Amino acid sequence: MTEQPTEQERRTLNETLARAMGICPHKWIFAPDNLDGDSDYPEKLCEFCGKRVRGLAYRVDGKVNAPDFTRDPAARDELVRWLAADDARWREFAFRLFDLVGAWPPQALDSVARKLLTADPLVIARAAVEAIGGSND
Ligand SMILES: [Zn+2]
Repeated sequence: MTEQPTEQERRTLNETLARAMGICPHKWIFAPDNLDGDSDYPEKLCEFCGKRVRGLAYRVDGKVNAPDFTRDPAARDELVRWLAADDARWREFAFRLFDLVGAWPPQALDSVARKLLTADPLVIARAAVEAIGGSND
């Protein structure tokens, strides 16, 4: 049974993975040098990539624009393809995954394939964050 994370933990996992994959999760803050602009539509700045936007769709402290790797099987599959694209990253991920799901040895390839297709997206996300050097706490 997988221990369920808080929403903040999910958000951190999703942001960490999105950034590692080159998908900016766009965390909007008010652009500091534009406070005298149109006050109804103040300019916002992404804290991560520096993109600037205006409009009501871009909420400061709003939900991050990252795939939900911890719940969405399609995002999990996208994450697994990204992990598989690099030999060293994949090897590290496989060891982390097998540590989390309690299967050993990782050379058991039939078991690897089954775990990847059936594992809870949360387990894949956690193993991936560990594999890229992030914290799983
Ligand atoms: Zn961004």
